[in-house]
Amino acid sequence: MSQPVPPEADNETYARQRAAMVQEQLIRRGITDERVLKAMGTVPRHLFVPPRLRHLAYDDSPLPIGAGQTISQPFMVALMTQLLRPAPDDRVLEIGVGSGYQTAVLAELVREVIGLERIPELAEQARKKLEEMGYRNVTIHVADGSAGFPEAAPYDGILVAAAAPRIPEALLEQLAEGGRLVIPVGDAYDQMLERAWRQGGSIHIERLVPVRFVPLIGRFGFQENG
Ligand code: SAH
Repeated sequence: MSQPVPPEADNETYARQRAAMVQEQLIRRGITDERVLKAMGTVPRHLFVPPRLRHLAYDDSPLPIGAGQTISQPFMVALMTQLLRPAPDDRVLEIGVGSGYQTAVLAELVREVIGLERIPELAEQARKKLEEMGYRNVTIHVADGSAGFPEAAPYDGILVAAAAPRIPEALLEQLAEGGRLVIPVGDAYDQMLERAWRQGGSIHIERLVPVRFVPLIGRFGFQENG
């Protein structure tokens, strides 16, 4: 049985909800990077969720986006973005574009975003949306991101929005000197958010906080039905 859908709110209402989200879900929980907070306060998250869930767009939770996938919780998007240390001149690879929301947040913060999504319908929807919204520094490819995207490497940052059983070697290889990789690592149910840095030819890995993401499915991720 489907629930009745509340009437569409106006942009002012969404702007107010977005400001409250930044204050209560992000600042209060320790997101401090001013540029990240500004991007989260700018990108219209309600345009990245299915129309019938728009009234929930600024809630403190992930939401379904179709094809069995989810748009991440706002706090998780902000945390991963802050951990990536995005600088204005950076080129960033995002793996698991999904709705395109995280892609838009990154596009506000860096010079160029290359996004990979394995499900063609999601990639197409996100591409169309980001283009309509005027993001000119984003390219989206349908590809298995577990192998990265060597064609455009190296990257100053790589953000993976799906959980891998271990850090794929290919992603470490595609990091520029000083580059950062943020990725959830674990089994299908419990993962830790990890950050890897390439510094002076060696890789440093930090294990940060417990998280729960949908699986990264592919050659260096999980099997489709396994
Ligand atoms: N950042 C997105 C998260 C979407 S969920 C958002 O907030 O909307 C994770 C996405 O990763 C899903 O869309 C899923 O299809 C995609 N995905 C899973 N395995 C992948 C792979 N190997 N390569 C590319 N995308 C993958």
